Amino acid sequence: MLLVASANGAVGMEAGWRILTAGGSALDAVEAATRMVEDNPEDHTVGFGGYPNLIGTVELDASVMDGATRRAGTVGAVQGVRHPVTLARAVMERLPHVMVVGEGAARFAAELGMEPEELLTPVAEAAWRAGVEGRIASDHPHHRLLRVVADLVRDPEHVAGTVNVLARDAAGHLASAVSTSGWAWKYPGRLGDSPVIGAGNYCDDRHGAAACTGWGELAIRGVTAHTVVLGLAAGLAPAAACERALAELRGLDVPAGEPMMQVVALDASGRHVGVSSQSGSEYLAWEAGWESYRTLPRRVVPITG
Ligand code: ASP
Repeated sequence: MLLVASANGAVGMEAGWRILTAGGSALDAVEAATRMVEDNPEDHTVGFGGYPNLIGTVELDASVMDGATRRAGTVGAVQGVRHPVTLARAVMERLPHVMVVGEGAARFAAELGMEPEELLTPVAEAAWRAGVEGRIASDHPHHRLLRVVADLVRDPEHVAGTVNVLARDAAGHLASAVSTSGWAWKYPGRLGDSPVIGAGNYCDDRHGAAACTGWGELAIRGVTAHTVVLGLAAGLAPAAACERALAELRGLDVPAGEPMMQVVALDASGRHVGVSSQSGSEYLAWEAGWESYRTLPRRVVPITG
């Protein structure tokens, strides 16, 4: 058994591990762990309390993938849904689709009996009012959004983030979950990599699983999570597979600041790694026999220079 997560997954590790040790599935474990992060109002990058888009609305992206079947479900730019990871799983299990976005996703949530909730907390709203509201004119909102989006995206004060959770259960099956509120002040309707299977999330029992945080546009252009798993399929160790996937991002431009990518990965035998294009970041792992999860350094794999 194994549970791996991005550092902000700490609040969900216990819940996920309990499921695995009780003989539960990897899919149940990654969903349960992710839900805890979605509930955490202190985390302004995921779920309830997430920073809103440019017009002050919280829009969430999430995905799940089941390694045994390679079935996947994703939701994007969904509003009012407290647990988009659960909605993504319902897309996988209850609809003949993989991806549902926007109003359709909110409608699907309502059909499932999920009550719409206000996800914008006073703290997140205050940050939006202070940094963004005044820059958006109400008379020509579309025109003005176009003008300010490039300035505001990747606002260094309100950096984005995402939760990644990967698990291997006692039966050896793998699952992965990803959830995010995306970049603070993103253009309304923008989807990042988190709901794009192959970009921010990929999982295959035969080879392994990978999930990303960082510039979603880069992970989409580099198909990063799938590239990692293809590396595992070719026989690379998780660290080498991640290095190869990040090497594919070299030379890709970003609209502001530094390109940034982080990946957590595990292979079918349970070897795991966290990598980051920037130094100083960590990931979490919990292996059978450990009393608790451990915080481990990510390997640094630069994608510039
Ligand atoms: N990958 C996320 C997105 O682009 C943001 C992040 O992980 O920092 O929406």
